[in-house]
Amino acid sequence: MKTELLFDVTTASPDETEAAGVRVAEILRGLIDPSADYPVVALYGDLGAGKTVFVRGMASLLSPGAHVKSPTYTIVNEYDGGVPLYHFDMYRIESEDDLYSIGFDDYLERGVAVIEWSENIPYALPREYFRVTIDKISDTERHVRAERVGE
Ligand code: ADP
Ligand code: MG
Repeated sequence: MKTELLFDVTTASPDETEAAGVRVAEILRGLIDPSADYPVVALYGDLGAGKTVFVRGMASLLSPGAHVKSPTYTIVNEYDGGVPLYHFDMYRIESEDDLYSIGFDDYLERGVAVIEWSENIPYALPREYFRVTIDKISDTERHVRAERVGE
């Protein structure tokens, strides 16, 4: 498995973490091709790391005007103000059956997927995806690493 580092940044505010989300969205928007699969972004980081904040940045580019909030109870939020963006929270997904029952594969064919708690669905990630890891450095600082993972 090849891993290419896209960028590495320490952010000092939620706005800066949002900006990192914009950056990833810019990169993947350039790769959208109607004859290929949509890009998938797998997010890693503890509760409160800033995953939802990061998605807000992605949505500001791909689906301007979207109201981004955590899909903890709904599992998926859909933003369709431009490029369709499916925002997942896999915290409560415990098995491949759970994933199947929400129709996960169908979403991947219809738009960009960004996935909180990707740790819970390692088997369901495509052969190529973007991996974003957010680590808490202090109350206000985060380390954001964006990578492209593939074969
Ligand atoms: P997660 O989705 O990873 O559980 P959220 O994005 O919901 O986390 O929340 C992150 C919290 O951390 C927010 O309350 C946000 O204001 C706060 N925060 C403080 N500093 C930062 C930063 N540099 N980047 C992102 N969030 C930050
Ligand atoms: Mg969240």
